[in-house]
Amino acid sequence: MKVLVIGGGAREHALCRSLSLDPDVTDLYCAPGNAGIAEVAELHPVDALDGDAVARLASELGAELVVVGPEAPLVAGVADAVRAAGIPCFGPSREAALLEGSKAFAKDVMAGANVPTARSYVCTTPAEIDVALDAFGAPYVVKDDGLAAGKGVVVTDDVEAARAHALSCDRVVIEEFLDGPEVSLFAITDGTTVVPLQPAQDFKRALDGDEGPNTGGMGAYSPLPWADPKLVDEVMQTVLQPTVDELRRRGTPFSGLLYAGLAITSRGVRVIEFNARFGDPETQVVLARLKTPLAGVLLGAANGTLDALPPLNWSDDAAVTVVIASHNYPGTPRTGDPIEGLDVVAAQDAPHAFVLHAGTRKDGDAVLSAGGRVLSVTATGKDLSQARERAYAAVGKVRLDGSQHRTDIARRAAEEA
Ligand code: AMP
Repeated sequence: MKVLVIGGGAREHALCRSLSLDPDVTDLYCAPGNAGIAEVAELHPVDALDGDAVARLASELGAELVVVGPEAPLVAGVADAVRAAGIPCFGPSREAALLEGSKAFAKDVMAGANVPTARSYVCTTPAEIDVALDAFGAPYVVKDDGLAAGKGVVVTDDVEAARAHALSCDRVVIEEFLDGPEVSLFAITDGTTVVPLQPAQDFKRALDGDEGPNTGGMGAYSPLPWADPKLVDEVMQTVLQPTVDELRRRGTPFSGLLYAGLAITSRGVRVIEFNARFGDPETQVVLARLKTPLAGVLLGAANGTLDALPPLNWSDDAAVTVVIASHNYPGTPRTGDPIEGLDVVAAQDAPHAFVLHAGTRKDGDAVLSAGGRVLSVTATGKDLSQARERAYAAVGKVRLDGSQHRTDIARRAAEEA
């Protein structure tokens, strides 16, 4: 099978790594990719937001499956353009991707499907904003309605900061605060059949102890030893299947990856948000544990044949990923710094630990930082403690001037286990 992956972050590197290990994949392409993906896939430059350009590239390459990684191309309709060219595509239509692209749309779908989520108001005027902030009280949860790469959400006890963020958005969702640990649960769906993956937890704040600003994600681990073993079944019944059924009923069937961001509150499971694509960095740990070859699963979702798929096969190993970010991330990150030590990790730590690239580029033989999140150092082990040790040992061998990473990824879960 010839497969083209769209995107160039650590999530796409994780997808390409798994696809490259799949014996059914004969040719692997990625556009635009990054310096790490170049080692497992042939890179092609493309404007990932231009559906016609992506469809043309896929046709030229003879791709039999296109996998769209990030949300922005999905919301821009890239999956529709690829399908219109007659090529199977893993990723929802523009209309279905609104589940991520508009928090207000997601709330409406959840209401229609009776999916448990935070009570909320959608506000467009200062008066509505004040009513909503008063109604819920602190801590305030204020979300920009549009796509904001996980950074449009402010959670604060400071009503003035909450109001200021709300006023800076055209349309804003203000909602009840959900307490309790968060879980990311991914499901692969063809619009009818839903196949859940293993749950993971990510770390959104920049600094240890969940301090500092929200980021795209600073690390993740899977499995969750503290979670109820029935969690996946419960979320399938109360969240994932009803949401997929509701979208189909509305005439906007969702195929691709449905990501449920959940809060395990004292009153039960609640949806914090949906995403329409694999989450980054949770994908790095979830795919590190998936033993079933990936291409057939993604093609089954693209072709509407997931019901014929045998159950997924999972490793008992645990996986941990630690993100190395540039100086000043999540503000304006410094780029262009050389990255060293990648060859040392490859020589000493593979296959248990490996480095997935996010914002990197090649300059001759050198690999340079080229974005906010630069690398996702991922490791597996017999349990979370061993996976953590291996991940941090590898992190210690990578050198990037001014870089930052959290030192507490999966620490509590490993200790409690
Ligand atoms: P989102 O972009 O909706 O995932 O929000 C980003 C982060 O903000 C989430 O991962 C949570 O940590 C936090 N958050 C969002 N909504 C709520 C909520 N209703 N209650 C508490 N925290 C929230």
